[in-house]
Amino acid sequence: MLIERADVIVTSPGRNFVTLKITTDDGVVGYGDGTLNGRELAVASYLTDHVVPLLIGRDAHAIEDTWQYLYRGAYWRRGPVTMAAIAAVDTALWDIKAKVAGLPLYQLLGGASRERCLVYGHASGKDIPELFDSVRQHLEEGFRAIRIQTGVPGLDSVYGVASSAAASIGDDTRYDYEPARRSALPAEENWDTRAYLRHVPSVFEAVRGEFGEDIALLHDAHHRLTPIQAAKLGKSLEPYDLFWLEDVTPAENQEALRWVRHHTTTPLAIGEVFNSVWDYQHLIREQLIDYVRSPITHAGGISSVRRIMDYAAMYQVKSGMHGPTDVSPVGLAAAVHLGTALHNFGIQEYMVHSEQTRAVFGPTYEFAGGGLRPGEEPGLGIHFDEELAAQHPYERAYLPVNRLQDGTVHDW
Ligand SMILES: [Mg+2]
Repeated sequence: MLIERADVIVTSPGRNFVTLKITTDDGVVGYGDGTLNGRELAVASYLTDHVVPLLIGRDAHAIEDTWQYLYRGAYWRRGPVTMAAIAAVDTALWDIKAKVAGLPLYQLLGGASRERCLVYGHASGKDIPELFDSVRQHLEEGFRAIRIQTGVPGLDSVYGVASSAAASIGDDTRYDYEPARRSALPAEENWDTRAYLRHVPSVFEAVRGEFGEDIALLHDAHHRLTPIQAAKLGKSLEPYDLFWLEDVTPAENQEALRWVRHHTTTPLAIGEVFNSVWDYQHLIREQLIDYVRSPITHAGGISSVRRIMDYAAMYQVKSGMHGPTDVSPVGLAAAVHLGTALHNFGIQEYMVHSEQTRAVFGPTYEFAGGGLRPGEEPGLGIHFDEELAAQHPYERAYLPVNRLQDGTVHDW
């Protein structure tokens, strides 16, 4: 079974997505997600100009050989653009293999290890009353794990806080929180670490007081702290029993997590911007983290994330794959299939895609009981509508830039 053609589809049903469609000579079609938020066209070009010509005529079943060919063959290894492109190919080939086998993909990855993948939703609010409304809505929808982000007194706009009341499942109007904005230049946000560190513990105290001890709570510091600031935050949140504290320091320096780890028992998650197992080499082996955040879409696909998770399993580190709406329904479907099969699955991030997006991608995963199930259709369970996709051309969008109060550029 040979690859006959590969098409790169860029569509923007509410936000931008890059999808690779691979077609075999006997007409089997597979889809892969290569969306890189704010840099989508770089991946589209990498695929169209450099990868697609290499795929034509290759054995569609040779997934591992194709992965190694694209990874080692490029010479320039790793990096988000390269690894998103490889992810798109790898995911599409797994989709094809499962369709040929007549099995949902999770069956080829070892079969189901659980009934559903626990997910967390995103509650946010400019202030405590607005945050409580958002938490209540998530609980009513059936979420059992919720990420908590709020405004900080004195700051105009803060990462993770939705600009209006939370969207619900089936709501077509907006996303829970979409930081990438369609504009000529990136939006600019501002930041004050001391104000943030003073405020956050009081937010979790209020949430625990209102909603009790059962609900799993998460928080994302979005790479903004120094190691000792992160350690202080972890310690100050210990009374509130977080499921995890995410991305406390800029992720390039793995040694930073050693400082944080030695000061706090709050579980740590990191890695949504990592794209290879090597980014976790010390973090996992030294057990400096508890959860791996790499999504299939940005870290070389199912084959590659499976490798990271098998390494992590030896050190009791679990999965917690990145899954906001810039991971397309194809990428999320892949995550749910792999998450269903992995023994060391932890939790899956789940920000509900808009109705407009779901209409284009036609995902068949199901949300129930606080978790996602992959469904029983052969392959990933994606029904992509190309005509509808073509009605939503790419629109330039950027993630924000972040500045301190004196104007210094800071980590966003
Ligand atoms: Mg994050």
